[in-house]
Amino acid sequence: MSLPEPADVVPDLDRWRSLPAAQQPEWPDRGALDAVLSTLKTVPPIVAPAEVDTLRRQLADVAQGKAFLLQGGDCAETFDLNTEPHLQATTRTLLQMAVVLTYGASVPVVKVGRVAGQYAKPRSSNTDALGLPSYRGDMVNSLNPVLEERIPDPGRLVRAYANSAAAMNMIRAYARGGLADLHAVHDWNRDFVATSPAGVRYEVIAREIDRALAFMKACGIDDAALRGVELYSSHEALILDYERALLRMYEGRPYALSAHFVWVGERTRQMDGAHIEFVSKLANPIGVKIGPTTTPEQATELVERLDPEGLPGRLTLISRMGNGKIRDVLPAIVEKVTASGHQVVWQCDPMHGNTHESPSGYKTRHFDRVVDEVLGFFDVHRGLGTWPGGIHVELTGEDVTECLGGAQEISDDDLNSRYETACDPRLNTGQSLELAFLVTEMLRG
Ligand code: PEP
Ligand code: MN
Repeated sequence: MSLPEPADVVPDLDRWRSLPAAQQPEWPDRGALDAVLSTLKTVPPIVAPAEVDTLRRQLADVAQGKAFLLQGGDCAETFDLNTEPHLQATTRTLLQMAVVLTYGASVPVVKVGRVAGQYAKPRSSNTDALGLPSYRGDMVNSLNPVLEERIPDPGRLVRAYANSAAAMNMIRAYARGGLADLHAVHDWNRDFVATSPAGVRYEVIAREIDRALAFMKACGIDDAALRGVELYSSHEALILDYERALLRMYEGRPYALSAHFVWVGERTRQMDGAHIEFVSKLANPIGVKIGPTTTPEQATELVERLDPEGLPGRLTLISRMGNGKIRDVLPAIVEKVTASGHQVVWQCDPMHGNTHESPSGYKTRHFDRVVDEVLGFFDVHRGLGTWPGGIHVELTGEDVTECLGGAQEISDDDLNSRYETACDPRLNTGQSLELAFLVTEMLRG
């Protein structure tokens, strides 16, 4: 039996095709692209619609101040580093942060990885420092600085799909297996507190969690909830042909099943552009990045357009203003959107507004500015009586040296020792956990 074409069920599903689409690769061979897309139209998707619906309900709780959203992972995943150790390290770090935040917020923490599909990057220039076509993510071309390998290759879309499916398979397994056991995760946090130079500051919180766990054990509480978690996937919905090919209909509604949650980036969020049009049709919860030039009117227009039915948690507004601007720019946006009656998730991305080039030439971020942007985010919401719904960070579970500062006091001279990112600088494990402890202090303060 052949299924109806999605566009026959949902009028205007493909209206995005008639609109300008920023940041799309110039595929050299349309025939090769079409062949790949028709393959992707029939493969089993990476996530299931029921999981997407569950996430949307949990994000409704976030929008209503009853849960907190933690989202994190690589700026750009790569096929080479889509390995078991890398996935385990990312998962473990997210789960460690989540335990600390759950304690701090006293509400459930919704956990979403930038994982299992974060393979496409928007670029501010079409060429890189060497004059080669820019790297646009492993889904499109290669990081290798070689001209032929920078030409977009549609075969990479299939590899992106296969790598995403393999990663999602393992992440689902970790979420049910030993990696997610609350006691094990807390033991890792105890190690962090014992070995980090900043550890003393967090000892009190760690000890309070110890006692809470001991109390539950003494009461005989040994629920499955202590041994497993739900962990969702997300990425930027950038390459629209790929996202459309992995779209599936379920109970009459179109789901982007490349991930549970997708977002539109700062460079592709034009109101009359293809990306906003495409995601407006999806049944998934979606996000939009909003940078420092966003006006309250633009934010409200986005909200009306992307949440026409007024579903709490349908839309996450991810502010990435920079620590110097958030306190000035965000309040009017939050006020106007709140006055519109829509219940969005307010999420802080403290990374993308705080990038600079270090004297040694590395693209980096200072931990203090990252923390200050999150502080500013909490200040703004405290001032308005709205809920600071979550954070969105670029991190890795490895001891890289990409962001400055933190308890290890990474300096400009240290950056070259382990600077490994394929795109933007990520918090390392220690910096990520320190951030989680600091956010816990903010949530309780
Ligand atoms: C990103 O999240 O990696 C990104 C490119 O963000 P933004 O669109 O906010 O610049
Ligand atoms: Mn990035």
